[in-house]
Amino acid sequence: MSGRQIDWRLLEELECPVCLEYMASPIKMCENGHNICGYCKERLTKCPTCRGKITNVRNISLEILAATALYPCKNREGGCEETFTVYDRNKHLSVCMYQSRECPVNIISDVDCSWTGTLSDIPVHVRAEHDIEIVYVPGHFNVNLLDLVRGRVYTQLVLVLGELFCLIWSTVYQDIDFTVLHVGLKEDSEAFKYGIKIGNTEEYITGTRKCHSYLDVDLSDWSIRKCVTINFDNILEFVSESGCLSCEIEIGREKLDGFVLEELREHLPVVSVVGFELD
Ligand SMILES: [Zn+2]
Ligand SMILES: [Zn+2]
Ligand SMILES: [Zn+2]
Ligand SMILES: [Zn+2]
Repeated sequence: MSGRQIDWRLLEELECPVCLEYMASPIKMCENGHNICGYCKERLTKCPTCRGKITNVRNISLEILAATALYPCKNREGGCEETFTVYDRNKHLSVCMYQSRECPVNIISDVDCSWTGTLSDIPVHVRAEHDIEIVYVPGHFNVNLLDLVRGRVYTQLVLVLGELFCLIWSTVYQDIDFTVLHVGLKEDSEAFKYGIKIGNTEEYITGTRKCHSYLDVDLSDWSIRKCVTINFDNILEFVSESGCLSCEIEIGREKLDGFVLEELREHLPVVSVVGFELD
């Protein structure tokens, strides 16, 4: 698409007079030749421009122009200068740095937060507005899951390597599912890996996987996929008398260093996490 410019005069013509979105096939016309988008046509009986009757006639030549036109990003006023065909325009929104997104705390906890902002504003917002503990560590830390029982979700936000990650343990189903989601775009998330170690020097269970973008994961029922899955009964021997399960976590870019030696483990930062039940 290089070299092509947006034809603003054409886009003006493509703007639906009712919803103000750009019209795409099917573009319908009134008896006097005014255009209206297919969506709004179904909701009106009279032409919003001349009050004439709306017909079923399509404006084929305008549809062809719409299909080949170049469009600005919906976040152009926010600062995005990219241009697209009508098809790519909607696909782009999931990766647009200027797209408004909800607070990750809203997604991964039972806390309601109505804040919205761009991806790059999220770490600033989370640090300023939420009393969720953020650990500034090189990559290794311990997380204590307090009162570990089935049927809960345990989440923790951590700032590692200057990036924000959501740690999620779910005991909603048979096992413990653990994942680390990167608060970033898919293409950036793929660079990060995570590992979890439960146990002691003698006996332990470990798992390592790639991070995924939190934008790519649907957490609606907490059946987390692409995670480390550990049999619940298998870890019960590692749960303390007070019901706490200690997990060593590592998050790294490109590669992991591996888990730390037992004697060093007690020097790692510790975060305690309380689970919440689903409604
Ligand atoms: Zn419309
Ligand atoms: Zn009309
Ligand atoms: Zn954009
Ligand atoms: Zn928030």
